[in-house]
Amino acid sequence: MLNILDLSLQELKEWMKENSESQFRAKQVYDWIYKNNWDFNDMNNIPVALRDKLMKSFYIEVPKIIESLKSTSDDTEKFLLGYRDGNVIETVVMKYKHGNSVCVSTQIGCRMGCRFCASTIGGVVRNLSSGEILGQILASQKAIGERISNIVLMGSGEPLDNYENVLKFINIVNSDYGLNIGQRHITLSTCGIVPKIYDLAEENLQITLAISLHSPNDVLRKTMMPIANRYSIEEIIEACKNYIQKTNRRITFEYSLVKGINDGIEQAEELIQLLRGLLCHVNLIPVNEIKENSYEKATSDNVKAFYNKLVDFGIETTIRKEMGADINAACGQLRRSYLEDKNTKKGV
Ligand code: SAH
Repeated sequence: MLNILDLSLQELKEWMKENSESQFRAKQVYDWIYKNNWDFNDMNNIPVALRDKLMKSFYIEVPKIIESLKSTSDDTEKFLLGYRDGNVIETVVMKYKHGNSVCVSTQIGCRMGCRFCASTIGGVVRNLSSGEILGQILASQKAIGERISNIVLMGSGEPLDNYENVLKFINIVNSDYGLNIGQRHITLSTCGIVPKIYDLAEENLQITLAISLHSPNDVLRKTMMPIANRYSIEEIIEACKNYIQKTNRRITFEYSLVKGINDGIEQAEELIQLLRGLLCHVNLIPVNEIKENSYEKATSDNVKAFYNKLVDFGIETTIRKEMGADINAACGQLRRSYLEDKNTKKGV
């Protein structure tokens, strides 16, 4: 049995052909699914015999909402979603004036080991398939009763560590039979897996690439992110230049500000030297504190000073609005507390 959401329209058409069915049936099936109908039995324009055949070969996996937390301070809603194999992940919906944005997870857990991040604490369990990532959007849309217009691949997991599935997911949500979400409304965030950034540049996509930099030099970055031992900042910047040249797209650099670690004016100055002349945008994020480490959020004075320094130099910078702090919106915190609860109940 396969999750039908893992098939592109073309692949489902081929399946129809191999099963002596008309290819237009593929589109009919997806029309139902995208209208939030996830039971083959209800697809009343599909002949019963074909519905039976479909049910023998496929299931439609939209993950179940196990827990839903709504922020009191803003329009953020976080879902703990469960897949049929018992694994859980997090998906966050953020409502902005310009539309609804969903932050999807690409792996169950993560193996990148960033020190400030809760998603990586138990390592990676497995990759999510393209259909499983897509299912997060279908579940979110149904739950909020509104269309999703922006996608950020910034939930748990490293998207470039699950390259093929993530690419397939992007192509499906972008297609007109799918969710028809424009590539410019999709952002992929990576901790900087350099060879995959080069691969991505060749895909002919117009998505936004976000790099989790968090430090202007390798020495400091190595203390925060193990991936820095593998690829230097210089290599990342070279890969970004290539991405810009191939796609003409502006790169976003994410920089989580940690008190006393990377939030000083010297680091801001170093960052300016690093990024000068590059087609980019910096997104400052006061770090979300998690109980598993001692990193503290930078003070608002330091955040402001850091911001002003970059802006004064002419680097386009934003301070990420802290959405959903009251609902554990930092990567992986909800899943962690769910797993911990489960273990406590089991007496582990
Ligand atoms: N693996 C990808 C995408 C997932 S993390 C990446 O590294 O980009 C999404 C973003 O949230 C990254 O910039 C990550 O560094 C950041 N992040 C993770 N935990 C955080 C925390 N506790 N506080 C602030 N930012 C955090």
